[in-house]
Amino acid sequence: AMRPEEFRQAAHRVVDWMADYQERVESLNVLAPVAPGEISRALPSTPPEDPEAFGEIFRSFEEKIIPGMTHWNHPGFFAYFPANNSPPSILAEMIMATLGAQCMSWKTSPAATELEQVVMDWLRQMVGLPESFTGVIQDTASSATLVSLLTAREKWLSRGELARLTVYTSREAHSSVARAAKLAGFSAANLRLVGVDSQYAMRADELAQKIAADRARGLIPCAVVATVGTTSSTAIDPVAAIGEGCRQEGVWLHVDAAYAGTAAICPEHRYLVDGAEFADTFLFNPHKWMFTNFDCTAYFVRDVEALQSTFRYGGDYLKTAEDSEVVNFKDWGIALGRRFRALKLWFVIRSYGVQGLREKIRYHIELAQWLRERLEEDPRFEVVAPSPLGLVCFRLTDPGLTEAEQDRANRVLLARLNATGEVFLTHTNLGGRFTLRASVGQRQTTDRHVQRLWDLLRTCSRPSE
Ligand code: PLP
Repeated sequence: AMRPEEFRQAAHRVVDWMADYQERVESLNVLAPVAPGEISRALPSTPPEDPEAFGEIFRSFEEKIIPGMTHWNHPGFFAYFPANNSPPSILAEMIMATLGAQCMSWKTSPAATELEQVVMDWLRQMVGLPESFTGVIQDTASSATLVSLLTAREKWLSRGELARLTVYTSREAHSSVARAAKLAGFSAANLRLVGVDSQYAMRADELAQKIAADRARGLIPCAVVATVGTTSSTAIDPVAAIGEGCRQEGVWLHVDAAYAGTAAICPEHRYLVDGAEFADTFLFNPHKWMFTNFDCTAYFVRDVEALQSTFRYGGDYLKTAEDSEVVNFKDWGIALGRRFRALKLWFVIRSYGVQGLREKIRYHIELAQWLRERLEEDPRFEVVAPSPLGLVCFRLTDPGLTEAEQDRANRVLLARLNATGEVFLTHTNLGGRFTLRASVGQRQTTDRHVQRLWDLLRTCSRPSE
């Protein structure tokens, strides 16, 4: 066990390491150049019988663990969507760990509950959601989507109708939607994947047809999940048109704006919440693009009672004297225990100010648009989807090659880029074709890094001799 004075010394050392890491992360390989099993083989297979000094533990952390990390907060990280962080968020995480509070109920940490209520309403105002929404922090978008579908099915469950319920989402929706439908007990045969238009957005007309056809067959259309900013290409489903249909049909509407939602803090991107007035639930991830450490999903609900009646459950030992006057967030999601996540949002929002956050988002979008223009100017490349935000989807194109040969050329390009250690990009499948994604959103990424990515794209795409 560490004595208080040892803790103080070790903590100072760790904080120095943290500050250094942020400055030197660019010099590390963004992708860990290790093979499966390499890290675990370098570690003892049995636990230490005797105490080890912190200096020893830290040394092996630096030697054995850091080389096996993928550096999500490296400025050359263009993969997936960002999971970015920031100094105020890191500091809040340290404080949260120190308090070690379990914030399930108001009583178990009144300030955690009340700060969460305050910052979630700040976030609601920042992205321009209607006042009728109340926010709660969930761990991830996947969990929040599951919470939404569980809430949507609740009233039907008590009537024994689960087998007749249908769920709708687009072919481009994140896999967490189909997974949530499965976990919530909806029949796999009752999940409808609605087609998309040429821009990969859900077709509202096809959705309406599918809902009508299901009704005609005696099924019960239960919930629609629309996506604002799809994972593959940031396509934006027409939420207003979808929502009007849902309202007429009495169908639950959940909006997944996991990545794109953050951009709605900029007035010019407010269109991203168009139609949210029709939604029952809406989520976005500050842990993607709002400089807040993973994990932190902002989940907004219109009908708080429907949420609580789905998740509230007994346990005499959990009752508190204040239950009738306060919010107990344990009743607002799946897990009973809760981390004090509101603290990092509070630190981040205050530290940047909303204006400072807008500037970062605008800068990332500007960098992505610069890259898109370079790709469009170069006849060897093709930009294959609209790029309204920080993501550009593109591929090498060569009319002299077959589709399979072109896919292969793009796979080779991706492997070469990632082998440089300077950048990390990932791929997707758009319209059946292997597509590269460049997602700009890491806090320390600047024009220099995007310029470097463009240089690497050109050198790595030259035919090898
Ligand atoms: N929904 C969309 C549109 C996403 O892009 C992602 C992740 O990229 C998710 C959901 C899953 O997010 P989480 O990791 O918070 O569950």
